[in-house]
Amino acid sequence: MKIGIPAETRSGETRVAATPETIKKYIAAKHEVVVQSGAGIAASIPDEAYLAVGATIGSAEQALGSELVLKVRAPDSAERALMKSGSVLVGMLNPFDADNTAALAAAGISAFALEAAPRITRAQSLDVLSSQANIAGYKAVMMAANTYGRFMPMLMTAAGTVKAARVLIMGVGVAGLQAIATAKRLGAVIEASDVRPPVKEQVESLGAKFIDVPFITDEEKEIAQGVGGYARPMPADWMRRQAELVHERAKQADIIITTALIPGRKAPILISEETVKAMKPGSVIVDMAVEQGGNCPLSESGKTVTKYGVHIIGEPNLATLVPADASALYARNILDFLKLIINKDAGLEINREDEIVAATLICSGGEVLRK
Ligand code: NAD
Repeated sequence: MKIGIPAETRSGETRVAATPETIKKYIAAKHEVVVQSGAGIAASIPDEAYLAVGATIGSAEQALGSELVLKVRAPDSAERALMKSGSVLVGMLNPFDADNTAALAAAGISAFALEAAPRITRAQSLDVLSSQANIAGYKAVMMAANTYGRFMPMLMTAAGTVKAARVLIMGVGVAGLQAIATAKRLGAVIEASDVRPPVKEQVESLGAKFIDVPFITDEEKEIAQGVGGYARPMPADWMRRQAELVHERAKQADIIITTALIPGRKAPILISEETVKAMKPGSVIVDMAVEQGGNCPLSESGKTVTKYGVHIIGEPNLATLVPADASALYARNILDFLKLIINKDAGLEINREDEIVAATLICSGGEVLRK
């Protein structure tokens, strides 16, 4: 089968959907691979590295006109126009973007949005949200440390002692756990909060303190369990009690990293303007939910702003700032996903009985399958 790897065109996108490592495997499995010239440049993969493993280097038309197109982000209308009806597209296509799904369906493309894969053990190796959130959690701490005007670790020097930075992590999914681990390696003192009860043990196992917001009603307890590993919006009263506790902890914090997301919804507000006002001058907030509206109302997408003396970093796509490793992990996720839709004879075989295939296939044969 002919597999195309186009260059990403979205502003700020640095990743690429296949690396020489994964292309070598596609070629060994008797596929032909065409990579758009320059597709890997931002991820430090020159065309020669693709040529060396047997890919051909071609134009956007050739890559997008392939039977199977591997992308990072959803194609825009110009890219879609270069794709063939009946072709298959795999990428992070945003399954909640109904207009995009409708446009792909109208173009006769069978599209797989990998973010929609269920959180089951078998899907772990193809879980793009996890691979990218892990990188983003790491980078959030790096950016915070860079902006923070003090040391992260406690230091005893001849010129006196420096206190360790206090880091508060809001939302402990994949990104939050990596942020805790990374801040810990840098010597910070860490506290964390989440709605889901199993998180407490994970936080403590990484050497951080869990901020417990007790559940008062059975309804709160039930909602906090989430669905399929994801959080659900918590009742207003629980959110108010959480905000009070967070306000107190934020006053002591030097760095806050917020990662709280509810799939398909606006992110919950966790750090209010009042809380920012109460924070120490020079402290730093990294709002990792900025693309979904933000966990702090003062954060601005794509900018670092200083409000009430607090630096608020609103970088919308942190994984793109670690392009080589983000591409390497993403490309492996795709390689693993393709095992589900390509048979031994290197042909496409879309088995909709498979739970992962069914969940990720957003449109096929002109029909929208996920609304
Ligand atoms: P996410 O990116 O959807 O959200 C980040 C975190 O924010 C979550 O932990 C969520 O509970 C939390 N959150 C939401 N509202 C909040 C609030 N009001 N206050 C505080 N925190 C709030 O999460 P994620 O990284 O996708 O991970 C979700 C879960 O799925 C985790 O338990 C993770 O370990 C699990 N997971 C399972 C698999 C698998 O089994 N294949 C793969 C990946 C992740």
